[in-house]
Amino acid sequence: MATIGFIGVGNMGGPMAANLVKAGHQVKAFDLSAELVQQIVAQGARAAATAEDAACDVEILISMLPSGPIVENLYIHQTRLLDRLSPQTLVIDCSTIAPENAINVAKAAAAKGIVTLDAPVSGGVGGAKAGTLTFIVGGDKAAFAKAEPILRNMGKNVFHAGDHGAGQIAKICNNMLLAVHMIGTAEALQLGVDNGLDPNVLSQIMLQSSGRNWSLELYNPYPGVMPNAPASNQYEGGFQTNLMNKDLGLALEAALKSQSAIPMGSLAKNLYAQHGRKGFGKKDFSSIQKLFAKADGE
Ligand code: NAD
Repeated sequence: MATIGFIGVGNMGGPMAANLVKAGHQVKAFDLSAELVQQIVAQGARAAATAEDAACDVEILISMLPSGPIVENLYIHQTRLLDRLSPQTLVIDCSTIAPENAINVAKAAAAKGIVTLDAPVSGGVGGAKAGTLTFIVGGDKAAFAKAEPILRNMGKNVFHAGDHGAGQIAKICNNMLLAVHMIGTAEALQLGVDNGLDPNVLSQIMLQSSGRNWSLELYNPYPGVMPNAPASNQYEGGFQTNLMNKDLGLALEAALKSQSAIPMGSLAKNLYAQHGRKGFGKKDFSSIQKLFAKADGE
């Protein structure tokens, strides 16, 4: 069993850290929110007073943070964890960030003899709780081999995508596709409802037809169709519209660099930006369903 530091125990990091505790690891957790740290302590982790405290004397350090600048600030610029870490500690950053951020951290770490992996995840909060996440890892193969058994305590699938940053590229492609099929699913459900169909019945039909997709199968955006989906809980929890917006921004940046055409991704980015500005930024991204709903009284 390993000693593990965990920084960022929010919607995703909290249940991921809890699964590490369940697997028998000693976990030290830090988050800017003391309340979230207490929640994970109640599940058997130890509280770290600071990020430095979470990072010292551990074999593995995992971070699960909102954005690339936050990750770079933690490791390189502000908190400068790379100055404090032992070269024996393997750093696994599971945040979804730009490949450039992951590469910057990897290079700065390598200069100090520290090994890092970018290991963004897919599977949502449900997957984090159930321990069925997919990890998409970038970095060297020996580090991947060391990380894999730990990642399997939190996920079902663990892929080595390539060198540093490759995990992030694969993740960005996946989330752009997710954004597109979530919007398409919401649009189709509303069209059906507007034409007299029951959203439950329409969902069942499309699930057995060629419109089947992950959003429809596991994350139905129409309220009341799927009791455990954020749509049936006022779009609380889950994956924030703001975070989806961030990921679509990363897709646009990657496309600019590679001169790729991403017309559907660009449209999705603009629809999510507009949706976030209408007050849905902190709601789950499936709340994009609201964009298609009739206004009250219409
Ligand atoms: P979240 O906002 O719930 O959690 C992030 C946590 O990081 C918060 O608790 C925050 O207090 C903490 N934090 C921020 N800066 C910090 C710092 N400097 N030191 C310590 N703690 C700090 O977000 P989330 O939904 O858990 O997402 C985290 C990452 O996972 C993001 O990069 C997101 O894109 C990615 N992701 C999320 C989902 C999802 O469904 N929510 C799915 C896949 C990937």
